[in-house]
Amino acid sequence: MNKRDYYEVLGVSKTASEEEIKKAYRQIAIKYHPDRNPGDKKAEEMFKEAAEAYNVLHDPQKRQQYDQFGFAGPMGGGGFDGFGGASMNMDDIFSMFGDIFGGHGFGGFGRRSSRPQQHRGSDLRLKVRLTFEEINQGVTKKFKVRKDIHCPHCHGTGAEDGSGRETCATCHGTGVITHTTQSIFGMMQTQGVCPTCQGEGQVIKHKCHNCGGTGVVKGEEVVEINIPAGVAEGMVVNVPGKGNAGQRGGIPGDIQVFVEEEENDTFVRDGNDLIYNLLLDFPTAALGGEVDIPTIEGKNLKVKIDSGTQPGKTMRLRGKGLPAVQGYGSGKGDLVVNISVYVPKTLSREEKKMLEQMRDSDNFKGDRQTKDSIFNRFKNYFS
Ligand SMILES: [Zn+2]
Ligand SMILES: [Zn+2]
Repeated sequence: MNKRDYYEVLGVSKTASEEEIKKAYRQIAIKYHPDRNPGDKKAEEMFKEAAEAYNVLHDPQKRQQYDQFGFAGPMGGGGFDGFGGASMNMDDIFSMFGDIFGGHGFGGFGRRSSRPQQHRGSDLRLKVRLTFEEINQGVTKKFKVRKDIHCPHCHGTGAEDGSGRETCATCHGTGVITHTTQSIFGMMQTQGVCPTCQGEGQVIKHKCHNCGGTGVVKGEEVVEINIPAGVAEGMVVNVPGKGNAGQRGGIPGDIQVFVEEEENDTFVRDGNDLIYNLLLDFPTAALGGEVDIPTIEGKNLKVKIDSGTQPGKTMRLRGKGLPAVQGYGSGKGDLVVNISVYVPKTLSREEKKMLEQMRDSDNFKGDRQTKDSIFNRFKNYFS
């Protein structure tokens, strides 16, 4: 059967947006979902065909390759990472696109476990250090990851020269063996994983010489990871299906990205709020005026300072903090400005003179003076 064009499969135009592609795939996937069409081979084919199309078209890089080179892929043959129809199975689809069924109204759908056991690739962990600017915007990071990839010689099957697999003679394809033992309670049956096929139900006829039959080898891959805006130190971003490849066509593991925050010279983070410490000059604090407050967006905000502003005063610039991570609260945090007042460390002779005159003025007598006079007035009560 000739492969159908991916756009045709999803019923979208060549210029469809990512959102349109996702929506189209979701509708087809729900319609032909195996849980809705049990035993229907045609539906299963449609389901797989749509998943393959979606796998390519929802990834901007793969989509561009497809638009340019068609099914062949840029290397003329390899196609898209062993994701040709033949090597794809239901578990891959649920593993890679499970999130599309997740959440609302798909309670009954999920991964099926009707297949004999498969070897899932293990997860990989990465650390990423982000600046506040990156956290504010969200960012795409590229990582060169050393990991298990599909063996190029056997395309991940573990079998030499397409020799294929045969049903395991020990367990007859069930992946399970049953021991029957005589005990004092009578005949007892226990089940265990078949030691010959490790629960896969099939064994390879001739093991691939390159990978020794595992279907995986060490390799490097550049992985692009989207970090959403608003993440914080200690959060983990999970990237399904980008971890180690599974043995003999098993589903791949995930990549878990641990977020670390880089310290910022200007701001301190408090949840989604940013704190800025403003050191105000004394004349502006006394006379009032306007100051520039930096923002995480990069441009300064002009903020009015009232006359007689005291150190310790806080101002809150609404919505000028960091965004909330998708699904955790809504809206943006604030920029909190803590004001302190700068006291000059060196003074000219004239300045000293001026200040000495000010010291004698009643207007410059501080709160402490007031408290002392209150204390003096009522000191009889305290003695
Ligand atoms: Zn077996
Ligand atoms: Zn191999």
